[in-house]
This record gives sequence, structure tokens and C-alpha cells, in this order.
Amino acid sequence: MVEPAPALRQGGQAVDFRGETHLTVLERMGLIPALRDLQTGGSPIRFVDERGRTLLRLPAEFAGGEIEVLRGDLAQLLYERGLPHTEYLFGDSISRADVDTWSTGRVCLVGDAACGATIGGMGSGTAMVAAYVLAVELARAGDDHRTAFTRYENRLRKYAKGCQAGGNRTGASSSPPPPRPACVCATACCPVRCS
Ligand SMILES: Cc1cc2nc3c(=O)[nH]c(=O)nc-3n(C[C@H](O)[C@H](O)[C@H](O)COP(=O)(O)OP(=O)(O)OC[C@H]3O[C@@H](n4cnc5c(N)ncnc54)[C@H](O)[C@@H]3O)c2cc1C
Repeated sequence: MVEPAPALRQGGQAVDFRGETHLTVLERMGLIPALRDLQTGGSPIRFVDERGRTLLRLPAEFAGGEIEVLRGDLAQLLYERGLPHTEYLFGDSISRADVDTWSTGRVCLVGDAACGATIGGMGSGTAMVAAYVLAVELARAGDDHRTAFTRYENRLRKYAKGCQAGGNRTGASSSPPPPRPACVCATACCPVRCS
């Protein structure tokens, strides 16, 4: 595991796991009890208008999913679980992989590098599912990594696309529209109507 940061990166906010696929993978990875110990319990969310008046309240489970943990806690847990089997190299980097599909030669992408998603797209959960499926397919295929990479991408692509689409909807609904541009021109060519 190669990471340019000098040590394990502890920052970030909450990561939520939700739905059968996430929970099944976490269960098979043996992570559920440790994650239950670390879970935040979620936080209720309140949307307000420009005067601070409440427009909408959402319960903690809405944003927190079935299990929500802080990103730093998740990173620490995965790091510790990997220690017996993994060589960690901090302060180093790999060359950039620029590929049309999720793999080329002996290089295979997981997480955001393969199928990135922002808020609401469950990118961290998808990254965990992808890592698990890749590991399963590598084990199934023995020495034939090309077959493993193809099976991994075939199994994951549709699921990842669905998660990304969820992120598109969340982004649109949780970001206010941009402010109207200030009018700086009063000529007939000005495309902005001023009121
Ligand atoms: C605003 C926002 C909100 C989000 N909210 C959520 C959410 O609520 N829930 C959720 O599940 N996901 C959320 N996501 C998505 C989530 O953050 C990502 O999907 C997730 O971090 C992907 O994990 P990753 O390991 O693929 O990538 P990263 O977490 O980005 O990790 C990549 C690592 O690779 C390292 N690296 C970079 N270049 C090199 C190199 N050349 N060599 C070696 N290492 C390198 C980086 O330092 C980094 O540590 C959100 C994202 C954004 C932007």
C-alpha cells in the first residue's frame, strides 16, 4: 500500500454504509462488530432559509445509513486489520494510471479512481465493495489476473453507476441554486435582466 502522505491520513467526515450490499460485504470482511463500536449514531439535519427559518428536518438515520463512522476511524481500523498482511509505504507514490477501462496489464483500479462519487454517491462504501469483489475474483482466478479483472469490472460497473446516479440527485437537492449574477452592463447586449 503506497501513500504520498507521511502517515495515515486521519481527516475527513462521516462515512455511511447502507443497504444489503454494504452490510453483506462488511459482514464477510468481519468488520461489523468493530464498526458498531465506532459508529457515530448519525446526526439529524435541518435545512434553513436565508433567515435561519427551518424548511426541513431529517432524522439521523437519513444521512447516517445503517452504520455511520468517521472517516479517520474507518481508515485506522482498515490500516490495523491490514498490518499483518500488508506492506505500507508512506511518503511515496505510484505513477498515474490513465485507462479507459478499470484495468490494463497488471494495473487495476478501485474506489474513486475507477468509479468516483461525491456526496450521496456512497463512494467509500462502493470502494469497500469493489476491494472485496476484486479480492474474491483474484482468489477465484488463481494466477489469471486478467480474468479476475474482467469479472470484477463486469460485476461492479452497473452497481457503481447506480451509486453515482444517487450522488447526482443528492448534489442537486442539497445545493442551493447559484446567486443571480450581478448586473454590470446596462446596454442592449446585456444577457442579464436586472430588476
Ligand atoms: C464533498 C464530498 C462528500 C462525500 N460524501 C461521502 C459520503 O457521505 N459517504 C461516502 O461513502 N462517500 C462520500 N464521498 C466520496 C468519498 O470521499 C470517496 O468516494 C472515497 O474517499 C473514495 O475512496 P478512495 O480510497 O478511492 O479514494 P481516496 O479516499 O481519495 O484515497 C486515495 C488515496 O490515494 C492517495 N494517492 C493519491 N495519488 C497517489 C499516488 N500517485 N500514489 C500513491 N497514492 C496516491 C491519496 O493521498 C489518498 O490517500 C464524498 C466525497 C466528496 C468530495
